[in-house]
This record gives sequence, C-alpha cells and structure tokens, in this order.
Amino acid sequence: MIFNQIYADEFEQVIYCQDTTVGLRAIIAIHSSTLGPALGGCRMWNYTTEEEALRDVLILAKGMTYKASISGLSLGGGKAVIIGDAKIQKTPELLRRFGEFVETLNGHYLTAKDVGMNAEDLKVVLQRTSHVLGVAGLPNSSGDPSIATAWGVYHGMRACAQFAFGKKSLEGLTIALQGLGGVGYQLLRYLREEGACLIGCDIDPAMVARATGESEISIVSPEEIYGVKCDIFSPCALGGSINSKTILEIQARIIAGAANNQISQPEQAEHLMKKGIIYAPDYVINAGGMINVYYEMKKEGYDRERAFLHISQIYHTMISILEHSQREKRSTAYIADLIAEKRIAQAKLGKRDNEILKRVK
Ligand code: NAD
Repeated sequence: MIFNQIYADEFEQVIYCQDTTVGLRAIIAIHSSTLGPALGGCRMWNYTTEEEALRDVLILAKGMTYKASISGLSLGGGKAVIIGDAKIQKTPELLRRFGEFVETLNGHYLTAKDVGMNAEDLKVVLQRTSHVLGVAGLPNSSGDPSIATAWGVYHGMRACAQFAFGKKSLEGLTIALQGLGGVGYQLLRYLREEGACLIGCDIDPAMVARATGESEISIVSPEEIYGVKCDIFSPCALGGSINSKTILEIQARIIAGAANNQISQPEQAEHLMKKGIIYAPDYVINAGGMINVYYEMKKEGYDRERAFLHISQIYHTMISILEHSQREKRSTAYIADLIAEKRIAQAKLGKRDNEILKRVK
C-alpha cells in the first residue's frame, strides 16, 4: 500500500538505515532533487510502528520539495526520521552512525534540525558527514530558524491582511496565536511591535509565562483558542489543527501560521474558501527557516540581510497566490501546489532538453 504512495508521489529514493549494534533505525526520503540537493531536517520521534515513521517522512519530504520550489530556491525536498525516544535512546554512537548513512548519499540529501534534535546533536552528526546545515553556534551558521520562520509568517500575514482588509499594517487587528514556542514567541514580538492585539495559548505553562512576562497578551485555554473572536488565527503548534471540527469553530477571516500540515484533509482548503476564510498555505508562509538555511550554502558565505530580504518576499508570493485563487475560484492551497509543481516541471523539461542537446552535439 505504502509503495503506491511512493510511486504516485514520484519519490526518487527512500532509504531504510539500520544498525542494531547502536540501536539505529532511520528512514531518509528524497522526494525530489530536480531543483537541487534535497534539504530537510532530521526528526527523532518515538513512532509506534515503522509504517507510521514512513508515512511521516514521506509527507514531510514532499512538503519540503514544494516549499523550496515556491520559495525560488535551488533545492529539492527530503527528510529523515530516526525511530526512537529522543530523551532516552539518543546516543553519540547512534547519531554518528546516522551521519555515516547521510554521507553515503554524497550530498544528494542535506540534513538539518527538526523535532527531537538540537544543535549539539547536529555537531555529533557532523563528525561523520559534512552534509549538515543550520548548526547553531558554528561559523557561517544561519542561527535560530524560528526567528527566520516568524519573520516570514509576519510578512505572509501582512499580505493576507492587505488582501482581506485593504490594510497596509497589522495595527489594531486581533491575532490569536496557537502555540507560543520557538516560532510563536518570535512572531508575538513582531506583532507586538506592529501594534496588533494579541490572544494566545500554549499547553506548556512555561511558554505562557514567557509570553505574558514581556508582552500584553490575553491568554485563553488551548480548547478555547479556535472560537475566540479575532481577525487572524495563527496555528503555531502542531499539524492537523484545521479539521472538520475546528473549521466550524474558527471565527477569524484569515488563517496564517507556522505549523506544518495544518489542514488534515486536502478538501478542507476548498471548504475554508467557501466559508470566506483566507488560508495562507503552510509551506508558503513557513518557508523562512528553509530560505535562511539555504543562504549558508552561498559561496560568499551566509549573509543575514540578504536571507531576511528573501524571506520578506513571502509577502509578494502570498499576494500572487491570493489573486490567482480569487481569479480561478480555487483554494489557495491548490494554487500554491500548482505554482510549485509548474516550476519543477519546467526544470525537468529544461534538464531533458539539455540532455537531448548534449546527445545531438
Ligand atoms: P516548538 O515546539 O518550539 O513550539 C510549539 C509550541 O506549541 C510549544 O510551546 C507547545 O507547548 C505548544 N503546543 C503544542 N500543542 C499545543 C496545543 N494543542 N495548543 C497550544 N499549544 C500547543 O515548535 P516551533 O519550532 O515553534 O514550531 C511550531 C510549528 O511550526 C511546528 O508545527 C513546526 O513544525 C512548524 N515550523 C517550524 C519552523 C521553525 O523554524 N521552527 C519552520 C517551519 C515550520
């Protein structure tokens, strides 16, 4: 069954990596390398079955391909998952062995941080492979990706507000933040600067305390966040927060947040459109971290100013998607996919033409 998905979604390579001597079970998925080497973080998660891990890595890797494409990066999409509890099963031996598997791919897959991995872990992986990006604290590092992601979400929100309310700024708009962790907290700071009215929630009291400690923000319970009266609902916690139940509760005119895989079923994007809710496709608006880390690959070295300027272009990408969606009467998610796929298809054609030309010469 799962092979049908690998085939239908045109995955290039899916590799199962195992070394029982160090307890490593990992999967690396390369969805596409048409636009460049496949970049995607490594997630360590206590999956209950290998199949669950495989499903997750496939969804995430494909998402990275679309994110890179729509952001204009010369990168493909990939992802790795290590099966295990990061709190008790992560050892230096396991991480080094994972690095050796990454190394065998000769830079076809570039790894980075994701859930369950931190900068110190990446430094261990780096002992066995140079194909690691976004290692905080090292020379040429692009630093904390949450700040870059929040910067992109902020610009995507501005675009949605411009489109929905004809407003150049977010000043005076009420924004509900679901999750006040890495990205949610940084986003809160940008929104506060702009004069937005803020409502938030988090399941972690420490995150709530950090947010209320330095910003004026009304806190509600995680269950109440969907139904609060607001202009923008911003999912910055886990995926799947837009589902058949929550769609009925959401009061906002706009949904714009950092979480990956916000929509649990693709048809819900059309449903949101019919309800008059503007949805900022997740992989478009949350691409800031990926764009930022991409600048580490530049020959001249990482340049924060250039990276952040590129991230702010999410504003224009979003405006173009919204206009397209209105013209075609199709959901923003559908339009975003179309734009991302078109760029990949054109690159594939270009490659094929070049190969034919080489043969003809
Ligand atoms: P994080 O773990 O630092 O923060 C997430 C926060 O959400 C945590 O504080 C957690 O307690 C809270 N949370 C979890 N479930 C909740 C619930 N039901 N209600 C309210 N709060 C809840 O993660 P992050 O780095 O801030 O990432 C947030 C989301 O954005 C994730 O979905 C991530 O995949 C996505 N994302 C992050 C980046 C990045 O650069 N960090 C880039 C792209 C996408």
